[in-house]
Amino acid sequence: MRLVLLLTCAASALLLAACAPETPAAVEAVAEPVAEAPAGKPLHVAVLDCGTIAISNLDAFSSSGDYAGQADEFTNTCYLVHHPNGILLWDLGVPGILKEAGPVVQDIFTVSLNATITDQLTEHGLTPANITYVAISHSHFDHIGQADQVQGATWLVHQAELDTMIPPDGSVPQTTADQIALFNAFKSMKREAFAGEKDVFGDGSVVIFETPGHTPGHTSLQLKMPESGPILLTGDLYHRSESRALNRVPRFNFDEEQTMASMAAFEARAADLGARVIIQHEPADVTPLGGMIR
Ligand SMILES: [Zn+2]
Repeated sequence: MRLVLLLTCAASALLLAACAPETPAAVEAVAEPVAEAPAGKPLHVAVLDCGTIAISNLDAFSSSGDYAGQADEFTNTCYLVHHPNGILLWDLGVPGILKEAGPVVQDIFTVSLNATITDQLTEHGLTPANITYVAISHSHFDHIGQADQVQGATWLVHQAELDTMIPPDGSVPQTTADQIALFNAFKSMKREAFAGEKDVFGDGSVVIFETPGHTPGHTSLQLKMPESGPILLTGDLYHRSESRALNRVPRFNFDEEQTMASMAAFEARAADLGARVIIQHEPADVTPLGGMIR
């Protein structure tokens, strides 16, 4: 019952994007890089499997109505960014409890998780204590589900997304109780809020940049890889290849006009850099990575 309730609320949260006033809040901590990082190794990124989301009817993913009746299966990826001065974990997947629950069906979604973030860190010879920073593209359930596992990291968060999740006036976020429980897992973490861009390690190789619209403080990630060159991770600015080709915006979206502007800015950045774009839910983008970006 607990699990059913969790997904019921999580799926509801996905469809009812939370919103809150965009008022500033105090930055509570400034992160210091920690010494556990694999010093000396060049920038590389391990791709983590943070769940699978099968969708029986894609209509919710295009406000234009042209996806109605189609089905699809989304990957749900997290990215372990190894920099000589620390490790950033980008996105936090679906709730870890789903590993034990098995595939759970709710409305149009069937959500599953094969291995938790902690499980996969172990496979890479790491523990949660090795993670310097975490950042989320946005606060929907499939991107924040395992914050409970990385409590020692410093959370780098866009100010507007922080204000959505933890309103500065102390009010309760405008979403379900179980979604709020996922938000609450972030409250005890050290955090550093930003707006615009966040150059994570100060050398321009790992830069979080704002792409608002899907949620108030949605962000994407720019990487400058030693072998692969410039790469942009979309977050959920796009959910699938067709979304990017056709500029399709989901029905569950904070501000469609803002999303369209973010898409234009993102594409200008991608063209300027000559970047490869990876849509995090798109198997056609994720599978060819073979689990590692160098
Ligand atoms: Zn998502």
